Order: sequence, then structure tokens, then C-alpha cells
Amino acid sequence: MWQKLQARLEQRKAHDLLRQRLTLEGAQSVRIRAEGKEYLNFSSNDYLGLANHPKLIEAMQKAAKQYGVGSGASHLIIGHSEQHHALEEELAEFLGLERALLFSTGYMANYGVLTCLPDKNDLIIQDKLNHASLIDGGMASAAKMLRYAHADMDSFERQMKQPAESRLVVTDGVFSMDGDIAQLSELADSCKKHKASLMIDDAHGFGVLGEQGKGSLEHFGLTQGTADIYMATFGKALGGFGAFVAGSELLIESLIQFGRSYIYTTAMPAAVAAANRAGLNLIQEEAWRREKLAKNIDYFRRLASEYHIPLMPSQTAIQPVLIGRNDKTLAISRALKEAGILLVAIRPPTVPENSARLRVTLTAEHTTDDIDYLLEQLALQIKQMNEKT
Ligand SMILES: *Cc1c(COP(=O)(O)O)cnc(C)c1O
Repeated sequence: MWQKLQARLEQRKAHDLLRQRLTLEGAQSVRIRAEGKEYLNFSSNDYLGLANHPKLIEAMQKAAKQYGVGSGASHLIIGHSEQHHALEEELAEFLGLERALLFSTGYMANYGVLTCLPDKNDLIIQDKLNHASLIDGGMASAAKMLRYAHADMDSFERQMKQPAESRLVVTDGVFSMDGDIAQLSELADSCKKHKASLMIDDAHGFGVLGEQGKGSLEHFGLTQGTADIYMATFGKALGGFGAFVAGSELLIESLIQFGRSYIYTTAMPAAVAAANRAGLNLIQEEAWRREKLAKNIDYFRRLASEYHIPLMPSQTAIQPVLIGRNDKTLAISRALKEAGILLVAIRPPTVPENSARLRVTLTAEHTTDDIDYLLEQLALQIKQMNEKT
């Protein structure tokens, strides 16, 4: 085993695919400290700038004083506090759904849903670019999993024709590495026609999309009930940590009783739940953050096209710049770091082969000056790279 692992590591390195962590020396923010220097950050999912917001910090501190740090047990034993409970009720109320259920992470929520709800006679149908946690959950599920080409409705309809007792269609609301929004109206219509259920992972939509921040369904003017299973996380726009699944009483009660990744794990700390509540409150109170983000997205796209930087068809905070080759992408990312910009290279297997990219994420906290500097440097580095090769 160890010999094979050594070989795999060496192969990764040879293909410019080795991943390395950057150790931060301060809070998540547009300006971030690492390795003794300050960087302009374009790689964070903290879309609304809440991860270091005083109200979240205060909520967490206050709750830690009252509830301590460890939650002590799983939700079903003795770890479910009134902070968790209030957060679940506030989520259900905000979304207008019957119930919501907290999970320690989004990965566990997706894995739990897909391994617990459908059985061996059912079919899970997923977009090929869905998040890894959905793919992993689908592979571990007793149900058969089929995938369709990304956002390709013909490919989707072909998979829907496969025989099954029942079908569960699963899609990211906003695709995490491309930034495009799923065609939810079309998917929902087809689900209705085929009596299939629909699950949306709205990790990158919740808090950001829609006038009230209710996510990708609100973005299209669809009711929250359009999805039978709505999942989103606190670790992105809400600036906190953890995740939830929301929907019907039957959905939530089934997950509580049968969801192994819900049952067999320690509850998130009550103080984290309290911070998530503060985040949920801020996305409702401070709509200006979404408006500011939308302005930044517009500004970025306009200026990028002036610089002839090729963009992908994304209207969201995720604005990937497709480079292709791993070595080139890595080299541009390193040069930007030299220039004081953190823009992490996203490479396979996170994205398909030959589609390595610089995944720009914009936040409400970026200024037009920040975006000016990013694009000026990015254009320069891409040009120099093309002259070299
Ligand atoms: C981040 C993310 C997850 C995982 O959520 P965590 O809470 O970070 O585990 C799931 N789905 C999508 C689309 C994500 O972007």
C-alpha cells in the first residue's frame, strides 16, 4: 500500500497536480495574512463578507459562554441544544418549508440524504458536474446512479427514461467550479411529468441569489417547494459552518431516523449554531450585501471583456478563468501571488482534464480598485504566459 501511495504522490507532482495548503495567520477576509504577508483574496466563498463579521463573532462568544464548546454527544443522544433547534426553526420559517435539519457539514448532508432515502429499486440521476459529496453519496447509495452531461437537457431526458420504481434528480443550484445556475424550471417540469423527486444543493446559491437571498429557486421565481429536498450550507455566504436539509416533515423525520451521517456523529457546537443564526439574520437584514456583490460581478465581467480575458457564462460570484493546462494555470497563480493576489489554481480531478482554471470568487467586500488590480495583473500574466509558450 505505502509503495503504491508513494508512486501516486510522485505522479501527482510530475503532472503539476500536487495540492498544497496555505497557512493563514488571520481571519477570512478580502485582505488575508499568510506567510508574513498580506494578500488580496479572490479565492474565498465568503461571498457576503460575513465570516469575520462582528455580529457572528459576538453571537459565537456569547453562546460559548453559555453553552461551552463541545456539544458532548450526537443530536439523538444529548447534543441537541436550543441553539440548534432555534436555527432549524428559523431556517424552515425563512424558506417557508415544513422543517429543516442541521448536519455537521454539507458533505455529510449530501452523503446522508443519498445513502438513506432511495433504495435499490430507485434511480439517482445527477448532473456530471455536481459536487463531489453528491457523487460520493450517489456511489455509496443502494440506488443505481446515472449521470447526465452538464446542463444538457437531452442527455438528462435520456437518463429519465431508464426504468425505476422511483427517481431522484439531484443538481447543484450553482455549479461550484463553473458558476452557472442549473436550469431549475426545466428540471422541475420534467420531474413533475415523470413523477420524480428533485434535490437541490444550493451551497453557492443560499444567501446570495434571489432578492431575499433564498437562493437559486427564488432567483428563477420558483417556490421553495419546487424542490422536494433543499440542501444548503452555512460555510459559504452565511459566513459560518455546517449545513442543513429542508423540506417536508416526512423528509426530515426519515433523515433523523435513518440518516447515518446525521445519527452517528457529534452535533456541531451550539456556539457554531448561534453564529449561523446571526448569519441567517444578516442575510435578511442586509440586502445591500447582495446588491454590492451583484455590482462587483457586473464590474468584473465588463472589465474582463475589455481586457479580453475569456470568461465562462456565469452570472454568479464564481467567475472562473479557464486556462486549460495545469502547469500554465499553476504558473499564473504563482505569479499573481508574487503580485500580492491569492487566486488558487483549480486542477483535475476537481475539474475535468485540460480544464484547469483560476476560479475567481467575488465578494461584497471587494472594491472596484481590488477588481481593477486583479484584472490588470491577470491580463499581464496571461499575456506573458502566452508569449513564453
Ligand atoms: C462546499 C460545498 C459542499 C460541502 O459543504 P461543506 O459544509 O463544506 O462540507 C457541498 N456542495 C457544494 C455544491 C459545495 O460547494
